[in-house]
Amino acid sequence: MTAAPRDPRYDVLFEPVQLGPVTARNRFFQVPHCNGMGHRDPTAHAVMRGVKAEGGWAVVCTEEVEIHPTSDTSGFIEGRLWDDADIPAHERLVEQVHAHGSLAGIEFVHNGMASANLYGRIPPLGPSHLPVTGNAPIQARAMSRADVDDLRRFHREAVRRSLRAGYDLVYVYAAHGLSTLQHFLSRRTNLREDEYGGTLENRARLLREVLEDTLEECDGRAAVACRVVVDELLGEEGIERPEIEELFGLVGELPDVWDVMVGFWPDDSRTSRFAPEAWTEEHFRGIKQLTSKPVVGIGWLTSPDTMVRLIQDGVIDLIGAARPSIADPFLPRKIEEGRLEDVRECIGCNVCVAGDWTMTPIRCTQNPSMGEEWRRGWHPERFRPAGSDARVLVVGAGPAGLEAAMALGKRGYAVVLAEAGRELGGRVLREARLPGLAAWIRVVDYRRAQLAKLPNVDVALESKVTAEEAREYGFDHVAVATGARWRADGVGRWHTRARGFDSTVETLTPDDLMAGRRPAGERIVLFDDDHYYLGGVLAELLAGEGKRVTLVTPAPRVSEWSVNTMEHARIHRRLVESGVELATAHALAAVEGGAARIVDVYTGRDRELPLDGLVLVTARLPNDALALELGATAIGDAYAPGTIATAVWDGRRYAEEFDGEPSADAAPFRREMVELAPLGEEVSVSRK
Ligand code: ADP
Ligand code: SF4
Repeated sequence: MTAAPRDPRYDVLFEPVQLGPVTARNRFFQVPHCNGMGHRDPTAHAVMRGVKAEGGWAVVCTEEVEIHPTSDTSGFIEGRLWDDADIPAHERLVEQVHAHGSLAGIEFVHNGMASANLYGRIPPLGPSHLPVTGNAPIQARAMSRADVDDLRRFHREAVRRSLRAGYDLVYVYAAHGLSTLQHFLSRRTNLREDEYGGTLENRARLLREVLEDTLEECDGRAAVACRVVVDELLGEEGIERPEIEELFGLVGELPDVWDVMVGFWPDDSRTSRFAPEAWTEEHFRGIKQLTSKPVVGIGWLTSPDTMVRLIQDGVIDLIGAARPSIADPFLPRKIEEGRLEDVRECIGCNVCVAGDWTMTPIRCTQNPSMGEEWRRGWHPERFRPAGSDARVLVVGAGPAGLEAAMALGKRGYAVVLAEAGRELGGRVLREARLPGLAAWIRVVDYRRAQLAKLPNVDVALESKVTAEEAREYGFDHVAVATGARWRADGVGRWHTRARGFDSTVETLTPDDLMAGRRPAGERIVLFDDDHYYLGGVLAELLAGEGKRVTLVTPAPRVSEWSVNTMEHARIHRRLVESGVELATAHALAAVEGGAARIVDVYTGRDRELPLDGLVLVTARLPNDALALELGATAIGDAYAPGTIATAVWDGRRYAEEFDGEPSADAAPFRREMVELAPLGEEVSVSRK
């Protein structure tokens, strides 16, 4: 690929920024983000961060790193620096980041009342006697003066260890509602009456002390960052802007760099369904004027023009990014090299966040190599050269087919991508037209632009491939990426066998709605037994067009799985505001005589809902007829229906394993095994 010179408009993004004793080589700052690998998969984590550095991020940070067992985030898998035994894992991470000339940052956390300490069973600590956030039947106990001293010492120890590991930047963390320092700062959780409670100055005392301790420990060997929430979005209940202005008056000049954020994690990482790029701007304006130190801020920033504007307008100094750096670890380099068309823009779906919430390695809809850098040896930009001169036909240009054709093309194979429709994109094309999902089209945009650059890949639109044709063409391999179709018979999680619903009631599937069909009648029952976004989105669509919609779901809450993408509360609110009636914990038992009979999944009690139309969002069947007839490989939804992220990933997997020698028996990726510890004297192993 030819690199054009950088557009001078973007020069400002590549100016170095002094962060106390260290210098960031440009303004791209990968802020801390969780990844579901942490202390369990340290090498996978280290290599993932190294790829970010290679991609040009001047500062690359860890996720939150526990400083002591009095705060363990289990079962979430975050970083850990409890004692010296944890240092080697961090050394490895720092080594990977330094290898590409970037600064390595570490975000310390003492979660306090935000973690239940389920692993170590140590009662959590907080400013006051209050239940832990979340709903574990556990309370945090109010910290004594001795506990405060302990916490300061734990933090100091962690700083020392991080310096030994080689970090260039260490965080003092009071954000996301996840840190004891914030719990002290906020009047919502700090009910103390001693010198650590009451006035803002008192509530900020612990933050100030920890900042001073950290500066003293670092002593010019590393920069000190302070991450702080600038508005908890709780009104008078919590931290508001005037208090933050007062806080900056007290400690604004202490850290070497400020990292600011808004609200709690679900606010900070809003999906594109609920917030546009740079939505944080209104909250960040004026912060820079409170301090002479540089300010980092996020805001789902993927457009270099927006980045430049935020810097030139004096809103922030450094472009903070988590998701944009996940979707495209090479974002800075691509801007620098004038390759904007190569940028893989984040779609704002929060599938990456779901990795953390499900305690599994991070994944990304746009970047299938995310989390696989070490484990499977995948790279976001580099591909293994072709192992043969095989010619490959890929049938279907949804996310799986697009990714497979692109990755095979980048490996150097001769590829034909045949698509029945007039446009590339498959399900993404259809879903991106639904309310709130417009940014998802970026999955197609990126791959279309890449395919256009590959002379060895031919794209044939309006080319529906039959088995006979596929055989005639004489390709060495055929990958069938023909997608899946939504079922119209109600089969899903609740009904595993088809129920005969009243055929006089118009029944539609998501495919029908996405193809533009609409139910004729007014009263619509939408049965969501899928539990991710689509049921809620379609209810919103129909309600927005004036239908009276009742969303029936066996799950206790709407779009249940979206708790993992942190969208659940916003989806619920939007549905209620759109006028959708919610029947949670109810299943659709029958449709007969012009009414739906729905049943409470706990009590079995039923009731009737009169309806004119039924929408079934339950499960899908793979379109695998072509693959079966040809004996060819099905990939993506045609193999097993899943998320768009899964289809993209499967397209990449197909291309990566092509011409390889996969063994069905061995684990298909590297694992990091812990070393067995000595058994311990108190444990006897005797066989008598
Ligand atoms: P996935 O999510 O697995 O990528 P999609 O449903 O998004 O699957 O995409 C499947 C694509 O395959 C659609 O664009 C569809 O038009 C196309 N397709 C289906 N059958 C054929 C066929 N026989 N020949 C060519 N294209 C096909
Ligand atoms: Fe962006 Fe979605 Fe990838 Fe997360 S998973 S980085 S939100 S594209």
